[in-house]
Amino acid sequence: MPLQGKLESIYADVLARNAGEAEFHQAVSEVLESIGPVLERRPEFADAKIIERICEPERQIVFRVPWEDDRGEIHINRGFRVEFNSALGPYKGGLRFHPSVYLGTVKFLGFEQIFKNALTGLPIGGGKGGSDFDPKGRSDREVMRFCQAFMTELHRHIGEHTDVPAGDIGVGGREIGYLFGQYKRITNRYESGVLTGKGLTYGGAQVRREATGYGCTFFVEEMLAARGKSFEGKDVVVSGSGNVAIYTIEKVHELGGRVVACSDSTGYVRDPKGIDLELLKDIKEVRRERISTYAEAKPDADFVSGRSVWEVPCEVAMPSATQNELTADDAVTLVRNGCIAVGEGANMPTTPEGVRVFLDAGVAFGPGKAANAGGVAASALEMQQNASRDSWTFEHSEERLREIMRSIHARCSEAAEQHGMPGNYVAGANISAFTRVAEAMLSLGLV
Ligand code: NDP
Repeated sequence: MPLQGKLESIYADVLARNAGEAEFHQAVSEVLESIGPVLERRPEFADAKIIERICEPERQIVFRVPWEDDRGEIHINRGFRVEFNSALGPYKGGLRFHPSVYLGTVKFLGFEQIFKNALTGLPIGGGKGGSDFDPKGRSDREVMRFCQAFMTELHRHIGEHTDVPAGDIGVGGREIGYLFGQYKRITNRYESGVLTGKGLTYGGAQVRREATGYGCTFFVEEMLAARGKSFEGKDVVVSGSGNVAIYTIEKVHELGGRVVACSDSTGYVRDPKGIDLELLKDIKEVRRERISTYAEAKPDADFVSGRSVWEVPCEVAMPSATQNELTADDAVTLVRNGCIAVGEGANMPTTPEGVRVFLDAGVAFGPGKAANAGGVAASALEMQQNASRDSWTFEHSEERLREIMRSIHARCSEAAEQHGMPGNYVAGANISAFTRVAEAMLSLGLV
């Protein structure tokens, strides 16, 4: 939908002020396209220039990360932390280590994070960070030295009441451990709440590792239930084979669905009997190998190199790898093959044209900022447990996560309904989240 009037000129300004940051432009435009009806009802938001303020990060930090590899060669990477919006609480959002990372990636993710965090109903602001460091093929010691060098600068900017990073692509339990170790060493404080996604032996929370994938599956379960359906007996395709993908597959299987394909950046594996999760975990979490290894170990499975996983027929699609991985052509293929629901485990994995195809076809489409909010919600629960020096059981933590995902689903569908777009979770998520952040910003004065 083209932007009109004031929103059009605000967007033109965003393009001019953030030249060359295509993913950031895409994330902003998707939110602005949804909030026209809110501004009609709440002119005070426009008068206070809330939208212009939301589009400008509160603070952007870019820094040098020098480190030494196992052969003694020196490398220089670039580190980022964008502290986007703290109206609702301390900045909160993950760190991504991937060679494609630049300021525009971090700004797109930070912008999305503001609204995602608002949807959880918990007191967390939005931020994101990362580096163009490529962990692939690096030894444990190299990853440790990089993490230590990264934290040597980052520690000045974060803190349990200021800014609380977590993981994202390329940053899992191992990296969070090294980052936390260095923070503790530099500051001489055991400040557990400064990072989330920690290991269970040193202040981590049950279900944080599983939360994004489990949460996304719960969100899709809610969308299916709203249409009188369930996962039972359904074929599901999940892209990626990292943290989000693995725990999505686990929960889909528990709820009676069957994941028939998953992928990594080299291609996809198809296993008509259902992905063997123990094997996948061993390949990805322990051996850190490529997905093709899966097909070598399983006679029924085959590996397809360099093609899109979305060509595999399914009733539910759960993109869980990276941004813009599901195009309009992929969406057309999925709809033709009988796909009825999509849950975005990754951030912005579907292109705007792909989203349009799904919405026009009446597919239940759960956008990332709602569907994958379970990860950050569990991080906020980890912060709660750290603050009270407590630790909850797996069952209690999973039940809290499930309640939160149900309430996010309810918020999105109610907002969509109230604004005349029933079933449109994209509009519902943007409207509900924007309204919460805007109200808080208005209350805080011109800051
Ligand atoms: P991981 O690093 O654990 O896994 C990423 C997976 O996606 C890998 O299989 C990787 O393949 C694949 N992938 C990454 N980049 C590309 C690319 N450019 N092209 C094709 N495949 C790619 O990351 P996560 O599982 O943590 O994150 C996945 C997505 O979920 C991201 O969009 C992230 O922002 C989002 N997310 C993550 C949360 C979390 O809690 N971890 C929370 C909310 C959202 P390969 O190994 O070959 O690169």
